[in-house]
Amino acid sequence: MIASYFVKDKRKLLSAVVCLVLAAVFIIAASGCSSKSRYMDEAGFIAFAEDEFKTHELVKPAGEQTVSYYYGEEFSYAVRSEECPGDAVKAFIDERVAQIAEDSVNSSGSALLIDVAVRRTENGALSIMISRSEYDKDSEENPIFAGQKVETYLLKDDGTLLQPLQVLNVNYRAKASEFTEKYIENTYSREEKTPGWRLFVTPDSRNYKKFLMDGSSIDFFFDDNTVLQEGRGIVSVNLGSLPMETAIRPKVLDRYVDRSLPMVAVTYDDGPGGKSEAAILDTLKKYGSVATFFYQGYRLDMESENARRAAEQGCEIGNHSWNHPLYSSLTSKEVAKQISRTNSKITEICGVEPAVSRPPYGDYNTKVLKAAGMAQILWTVDTLDWKTRNPRKIFKAVKAAGNLDGKIILMHSIYKETAKATEYIIPWLRQQGYQTVTVSELIKYKTGDAPKPGTVYRKLP
Ligand code: ZN
Repeated sequence: MIASYFVKDKRKLLSAVVCLVLAAVFIIAASGCSSKSRYMDEAGFIAFAEDEFKTHELVKPAGEQTVSYYYGEEFSYAVRSEECPGDAVKAFIDERVAQIAEDSVNSSGSALLIDVAVRRTENGALSIMISRSEYDKDSEENPIFAGQKVETYLLKDDGTLLQPLQVLNVNYRAKASEFTEKYIENTYSREEKTPGWRLFVTPDSRNYKKFLMDGSSIDFFFDDNTVLQEGRGIVSVNLGSLPMETAIRPKVLDRYVDRSLPMVAVTYDDGPGGKSEAAILDTLKKYGSVATFFYQGYRLDMESENARRAAEQGCEIGNHSWNHPLYSSLTSKEVAKQISRTNSKITEICGVEPAVSRPPYGDYNTKVLKAAGMAQILWTVDTLDWKTRNPRKIFKAVKAAGNLDGKIILMHSIYKETAKATEYIIPWLRQQGYQTVTVSELIKYKTGDAPKPGTVYRKLP
């Protein structure tokens, strides 16, 4: 098979070399590209953008593209996009594009070009690439290329985010590594590569996260200064269809937890809540995330819709007593009653039997543990959401907690400020590389066992 190979840098804007090594198409969009002539008006900007889109293209366009231009004297940007199926996916892309444009307007750049590619995988997921090229100004106000970034996503048609291992088999990184390592090795000189380039092409779970794929091929992207020296831009390696045949799952998985990656349990007490909890469930759904809700039995009849929905979305439902008493002030019999009545109600409404419980106020003693007869879940990170009632402060409490792997975060689903904080926390956790898991999953993956009755868990090793 013949593959072509393109390099663009300061001296050579485009040089194409036919390359027989491996079935790979390879593109580098180098930063520090020569400055273009200054654009003084909208027509000038459009001409500039058309040129630059071609120069910094990371993948070949598939089908029709539409371009929108936003011209301003200080700052202009253009968005080029492939046809997008469905409103939910379009809304997701529009939101990312708006965020990128907003971030860029707030920096001191002069222009921004956003390129969006949308493909469908063989098992029906949508693969999305959003790349941006940023331009500064030189002393004569000419736009100069200041670098390129790429982000990629996998989505369901309803707009829910998927993780790579929900779409691809666990062996996909090994397949990708086999081809990519040889390719980089044989294609670039030692001077072009970074001293540690091999670290970025191993089958390690940190690698091969950025890609665009369709039914017949996959392009992996490597950021500037990872495999090649800084200033050489994003590297794109196309693997064609050969390695993909065994790498793609026949069917997209609803969830996949990778035991080798960090995981965190987000928990919400005191519900089922009303609108605030519905908003939390919306956010969890949007990011394909799960949490654990510790419910008070007496609220389940009035908020049954949220409770049912939480269980349906794959969240765990835990016991948080019938009506929030201080367990240590009750008799053993009363504690047992609080637990069993709530468990029955949860089973009736949600169709699941709780495996975990959280004592109100985190209050327990030996007698309570015995009487309750369930695993008692405390927490590692107390967001104090009930006290501050401030979304930024709640988010800050999570960010300030350091390494969250194996930790349990405490919030309450009955406050609208907590729902707002959840909108910051869930995507941030994802961005930091954490998988959200339920409390039972966290215990199972970290200890190898199911939650043990009579045991208190605060964090997992
Ligand atoms: Zn509580």
